Amino acid sequence: MRQILLKAAVLAIGSAAASFLIVITIVPAIGGVVEGNAVLMTLVCPLVIAFPASAYTLWQKQKLADAFGQLAAAHEQLADAHMELAEAHEKLAEKARHDDMTRLLNRESFFAALKNSRRRTDTGVLLIIDADNFKYINDTHGHQQGDAALLLIADAIRAGVRDADLVGRIGGEEFAVFLGGTTAEEAMLVAERVRLGVEAIPFSPGEGKFLPLSVSIGAARLRPHLSWSQLMREADRRLYEAKRQGRNRVVFENGSQKAA
Ligand code: GH3
Ligand code: MG
Ligand code: MG
Repeated sequence: MRQILLKAAVLAIGSAAASFLIVITIVPAIGGVVEGNAVLMTLVCPLVIAFPASAYTLWQKQKLADAFGQLAAAHEQLADAHMELAEAHEKLAEKARHDDMTRLLNRESFFAALKNSRRRTDTGVLLIIDADNFKYINDTHGHQQGDAALLLIADAIRAGVRDADLVGRIGGEEFAVFLGGTTAEEAMLVAERVRLGVEAIPFSPGEGKFLPLSVSIGAARLRPHLSWSQLMREADRRLYEAKRQGRNRVVFENGSQKAA
């Protein structure tokens, strides 16, 4: 406020000085005489008018500047809140895409990602991986031990594939992997690596005992004109065949590639 009054005073004095200069220049030029009360009025009028007018204008200007400052701060806060919200939303969406237990893609997002991958490649191999005799593990060692075994199997699957491959938990003890752009021979090696990886898990349900874990795998090769449901059915049929042949094996287009 002091600043405003000071500026208003300077402006008022400036106005009075300008008024005085105008009067003493123009009045004699038109034949008049500058004297007495007239001189006083040339100084008082501008002071009386310019001081409050300047003070009011400066005060309004200051208020406007303050309001702009507050608006800019509010805008910045809003932008921060918006960014935090977008981050939280992204985290939530990311969480919703994954299975809570294994952190692999859940069934819906695995198939969504699978459909998406066709834009990038028309070749690849789908593996459907099912834990063997899992009901037995639950029944004899309890559901909690079953969960622990499932986590180890999920880890072994993840460890057996490339980072870029899609890995999902598509059912209770059933997983799926899509090896995009992979040949049948490479896929067979990957599937076998996964199978052996699960077989090598030193799973102990307690009391110093070890329980062998295994998976059966059905594999199907993506070809042009083959729909996702056809591919899925083919891999499922082969998984069923792997179970029928005795489990702990991979079945692909040339039959059972590796018996346990
Ligand atoms: P198969 O070799 O024929 O696949 O036999 P299986 O016992 O694995 O298959 P089945 O379909 O008879 O049983 C699957 C079992 O997997 C039963 C179910 O309780 C268990 N299971 C599914 N999801 C989970 C889970 O999240 N945690 C635990 N602990 N068990 C699960
Ligand atoms: Mg099973
Ligand atoms: Mg199953």
